[in-house]
Amino acid sequence: MERYSIINDKNPREIVLLRGRGCIWRQCTFCDYHLDKNSSDEENFKLNSEVLAKVKGIYGRLEAINSGSFCELDDKTLQLITKTCIKNNIHTLHFESHIIYKKQTIKAKKELAEKGIKLIIKTGVETFDKEYREHIMRKGFGLASPKDIAEYADEICLLFGLSGQTEKSMRDDIETGLQYFDRVCVNIMNENSTKIKPDKNVIKIFAEKIAPLYINNDRVDILMDNLEFGVGTKIQEVSNNV
Ligand code: SF4
Repeated sequence: MERYSIINDKNPREIVLLRGRGCIWRQCTFCDYHLDKNSSDEENFKLNSEVLAKVKGIYGRLEAINSGSFCELDDKTLQLITKTCIKNNIHTLHFESHIIYKKQTIKAKKELAEKGIKLIIKTGVETFDKEYREHIMRKGFGLASPKDIAEYADEICLLFGLSGQTEKSMRDDIETGLQYFDRVCVNIMNENSTKIKPDKNVIKIFAEKIAPLYINNDRVDILMDNLEFGVGTKIQEVSNNV
């Protein structure tokens, strides 16, 4: 599995896909990437050390993701990420986090700021339609409003290409995202091992009507394929790795 890559276009940065204990929530109906996990902190640290050794600090920015939230990484890996940033003059670090860890993200931002590192948190809200988000996607964000989410997160991921989504709902989600957050990353649903399947008609509407409006927007990333950031693997290989 590819675990290190460099993103050269919008928001340039190095990106590493680390491995943690696994997503604590694991309820999202569309998700199977939480399968990239290991219960051994030692094994994870060994793997993560090898991946972090590849970081060079090319753009002064590092995104460290782990198929879950950063709080699910072992302590030694978290310390090594900080050391890697300091050693390579990385001033901005990006982590992903579920709302469950809201308090920990706010604390981590303060602690890293004291070391001269700005921590940016990305959260997978997927949609701002609470009914859809909690009953169809089972995201575990409860009744959280965009304002509540913006108290800990700087960037959001949206998930499009699911039955029931419309041109209006997708456009509203992106506009709300741009109103409350610094950046919006749109992921298009890819076939995986869950029962939730991509809806070709919804994806067609997105590709024809929505994507052209935002493709040149520097604050919007559009990932038609979930490997476009250069890390990860197809689900079959992930399953073989755990
Ligand atoms: S989408 Fe994120 S929070 Fe939801 S189950 Fe997957 S890894 Fe966990």
